[in-house]
Amino acid sequence: MELNCDMHDNGHSSSAKRLTGKVALITGGARGIGAATAKLFAGNGAHVVIADILDELGTTLADSIGGRYVHCDVAKETDMESAVQLALMWKGHLDILFNNAGIGGPTGSITNLKMDHMTALLAINMNGIVHGIKHAARAMIKGGKGGSIICTSSSAAIMGGLASHAYTLSKEAVLGIARSSACELGIHGIRVNCVSPHGVPTEMLVSAYQTFLGKMDLSPEEVSKTVGKKGSLLRGRSGSVEDVAHAALFLASDDAGFITAHNLVVDGGYTSGCSQMSHIYQG
Ligand code: NAD
Repeated sequence: MELNCDMHDNGHSSSAKRLTGKVALITGGARGIGAATAKLFAGNGAHVVIADILDELGTTLADSIGGRYVHCDVAKETDMESAVQLALMWKGHLDILFNNAGIGGPTGSITNLKMDHMTALLAINMNGIVHGIKHAARAMIKGGKGGSIICTSSSAAIMGGLASHAYTLSKEAVLGIARSSACELGIHGIRVNCVSPHGVPTEMLVSAYQTFLGKMDLSPEEVSKTVGKKGSLLRGRSGSVEDVAHAALFLASDDAGFITAHNLVVDGGYTSGCSQMSHIYQG
């Protein structure tokens, strides 16, 4: 099934499409933030390759947006290399990588941290990001037309106490490698940026809340409400997958042509300030 790209859910007419003809590879694109971004990119004229380990979901979504799906465990460098090759074989070039796949980590005290658990998480959240930058950059340099690489970090990289130690470490590492890669790749016209979401009620966050609160029937709406109350300056509003997708679209598009080595935080202001003392601004 082909998506009608003339008027997608972003309400953009074809004249306002921001990624016309671009080829985008999205890791972790089968569901959550990655899936919302895949739809938005396709609606903006991009040819999208979804790379994930959830084959059924990924294939169905790719078919629905006229894209391609590839099984890709980002922890395996050869899988990532094959995903980039698929994009090149399909359309001859790669313009955008949304380096987004990630998992949550086991919680618990630093004094009990199981190093094999941490290593397993870093293999995906950190090595996976490096594999993505490495192979996308090779393709983009060879293509000679620049490109945009967007890596998903997290509010947990900015503020402590929001996630497990291993997850926090991995997301801080994402900021570091994005910054250093941007320094090297700018000369080729390749921009490398991050998006850092906070509190988006995807399967990852909902299952984390269910575990923390011991309430396995907690719904995404309830998680969203809780985040909105405590995790946003915007009057109880929490973030959505579309909020993050729009940030990624901006960074992917030529609108962000002079932006590189940047971390676009999508957190409703949560990591920048607190509204507990807002009464001091009255009067
Ligand atoms: P999600 O669990 O819905 O989506 C994650 C996707 O990554 C899934 O499709 C999953 O199959 C895929 N994935 C997991 N391991 C993989 C692997 N080894 N290889 C390839 N794909 C793999 O969660 P999400 O919230 O959409 O997460 C997307 C990204 O956003 C993650 O990097 C996450 O850390 C980050 N993030 C999310 C939030 C939030 O509040 N939801 C906040 C900050 C950062």
